[in-house]
Amino acid sequence: MTARIIDGRACAAQLRAEYPTRIRSLHEQAGVTPGLAVLLVGDDPASAVYVSNKVRACDAVGIRSFTFCLPTTITHAELLGRIVELNNDDRIHGVLVQLPLPPHIDMREVLATIAVDKDVDGFHLYNVGGLVTGGTVFSPCTPYGVVKLLESEAIPIEGQNVVVVGASNIVGKPMALMLMARNATVAICHAKTRDLAQFTILADILVVAAGVPNLILPQMVKTGAVVIDVGINRLPDGRIVGDVDFEGVAKKASAITPVPGGVGPMTVTMLLDNTIRSAERMTAAAVGLWRPSSL
Ligand code: NAP
Repeated sequence: MTARIIDGRACAAQLRAEYPTRIRSLHEQAGVTPGLAVLLVGDDPASAVYVSNKVRACDAVGIRSFTFCLPTTITHAELLGRIVELNNDDRIHGVLVQLPLPPHIDMREVLATIAVDKDVDGFHLYNVGGLVTGGTVFSPCTPYGVVKLLESEAIPIEGQNVVVVGASNIVGKPMALMLMARNATVAICHAKTRDLAQFTILADILVVAAGVPNLILPQMVKTGAVVIDVGINRLPDGRIVGDVDFEGVAKKASAITPVPGGVGPMTVTMLLDNTIRSAERMTAAAVGLWRPSSL
């Protein structure tokens, strides 16, 4: 078997092509341009690259972005104050704090300070809790991108055995919950899982988000499985690879995402989608079509 390559760039481009029309319509109906505020604390080079990618993606579709580069020395209270200002700024529909944060900042309190209705990263406790109980306003971008990718490839989720490798709060856990909500049977594996292969071999859909190159080898994958590689790892020679032995596993899987060019482009696309939807929700609220969350 040779796997079909799931082209995340093409899927992302197709979705992004619809955004300028939605943005134009908001502007024509209500004079609103979606706005995203991105806060970058400190000088981590990888974070700076992620932020500039997000800003570029916003520019390309017509979302107005506001970047705030804040010093590592910023106090916890000052950072919370900046977020509250942005929560109250009508030009801003999404507030995103680039992670990780310096150790003296309480990340959980920072995420809890972002207004639920502007939490386009989907990391506020309300949005996380909504993944369990229903009622999430915004889904976290990476798992949301994976779901969109599966949908666009017409890969059924309901009733499938899904194994998620990686249990982080931003990828693995929300991924598992989102697939469970779509009636998959889900197992979550992590670094302490004994004999990872005994789980992965059962997966109809295998989602890997561990940050370990070559973690998933062909003998760990069921013939015909769909393999979604979320991992992004930079090798000593500079190459970017995922967590899956792509060459080997592609001979066994029915479909597989490459790295780069798979899940990555979908993550930023879902951020754009959430920001535009936030502007649409707020515009609808302004004419009384819905009530914003009281949180
Ligand atoms: P993370 O916070 O470091 O979490 C990694 C998870 O993988 C943890 O749950 C960890 O288990 C588990 N793990 C580590 N080694 C393992 C092993 N040998 N076997 C099984 N599980 C193992 O990372 P993250 O933020 O979730 O990101 C995961 C990967 O996805 C990284 O490569 C990251 O760069 C990439 N990523 C990509 C995108 C994208 O847009 N494509 C977005 C976000 C992240 P424990 O919980 O037991 O420690």
